[in-house]
Amino acid sequence: MAYTRSRRQQRFAVVWATCPTCGDVELTSEQVQIQTCTSDGTSTYSFVCPTCSLIANKPASVSVVESLSAAGSRLVAWNFPAELAEAKVGAPICHNDLLDFHAALEADGWWSELSNALRDS
Ligand SMILES: [Zn+2]
Repeated sequence: MAYTRSRRQQRFAVVWATCPTCGDVELTSEQVQIQTCTSDGTSTYSFVCPTCSLIANKPASVSVVESLSAAGSRLVAWNFPAELAEAKVGAPICHNDLLDFHAALEADGWWSELSNALRDS
């Protein structure tokens, strides 16, 4: 693994990654970020392609995570939103529900109607 120095004189590894548009590109480990989901244990890594400036995001195996971490890439942990664990009540919202909601918002007095509905529930 090759190393280079940033302006701050900290050592970062040279990383080769593949941009979906440009193909193989050269980065430093500082330019790569690792994302690990603590809910399911999966990881990805991402980088901004130095050629096309698009963000590339790819699955990362445990060995890739370990290598990038050891080389100084930033690791970000995240988890699924708590809303996924909430019990769902009632039928799913359909297109007609959205149209009714839109019409209700355009009518006068929607705020007081909503406040009354919440107070009565
Ligand atoms: Zn690219």
